[in-house]
Amino acid sequence: TLVLRDVVKEYGGRPVLDGIGLEMGRGDFVCMVGTSGSGKSTLLSMIAGLEPVTAGSIELDGVPVRGPGPERGLVFQSGALFPFRTVAENVGFGLRLPAAERARRVEWYLSEVGLLPLAGALPKELSGGQRQRVAIARALACEPSVLLLDEPFGALDVQTKEDMQVFLHQVWQDTGATVLMVTHDVEEAVLLGRRVIVLSSGPGRVAAELPVPLDGPRRLALKRTPEFLALRA
Ligand code: ATP
Ligand code: MG
Repeated sequence: TLVLRDVVKEYGGRPVLDGIGLEMGRGDFVCMVGTSGSGKSTLLSMIAGLEPVTAGSIELDGVPVRGPGPERGLVFQSGALFPFRTVAENVGFGLRLPAAERARRVEWYLSEVGLLPLAGALPKELSGGQRQRVAIARALACEPSVLLLDEPFGALDVQTKEDMQVFLHQVWQDTGATVLMVTHDVEEAVLLGRRVIVLSSGPGRVAAELPVPLDGPRRLALKRTPEFLALRA
């Protein structure tokens, strides 16, 4: 369980987040929407342990979050990668596994995001959307129990985006990970999220929790049917 209590963040005395309360059970999938500058990325950074809270607390399974940890994976909004490492090295970075197993896992995640042919490329040789998918593959390859995603599909075309939504949904179902995803796309939020929360514009607070139609998984499943895939072929 991930519990945020009255989380406040200030930068140089200026409030950015003003008392965030949120409780996510294991395996929950929460989407977060809110205007630009409402503090969504800042909140993910704090949960990832990359940024301290000014006040309040963040606890994961009863343990206060004090720094980064392998059980929490963050996909940055910018899709940050190591510039001088190949795509495959980026995805495998920090995976503490025997070499053969690591290679197998890297290959699997790269093929799932459609980038196996670019395994040996450097980040600068990729498009923005390809880089974003490498960042997603890297976070997923660590198989974290808490996955934090910051507008992960923002730079993708409609078709690739749908593929990635289906993939993320499948990973979530298969692994039972707790997912907190920021998106500006409300349709995407209600398609993937079991819950959707709205941050008020700065300083951010949880302004509302939107009702989520329960047919999201059914609509995602439809996208996997042979009939649907044939339409796109
Ligand atoms: P967007 O939808 O545009 O990504 P956001 O909700 O993710 O916006 P944040 O990136 O969290 O917003 O930023 C919230 C506020 O905090 C902004 O006003 C920003 O200028 C400020 N801010 C973020 N990071 C820092 C920092 N390292 N130092 C000072 N101010 C910061
Ligand atoms: Mg942001």
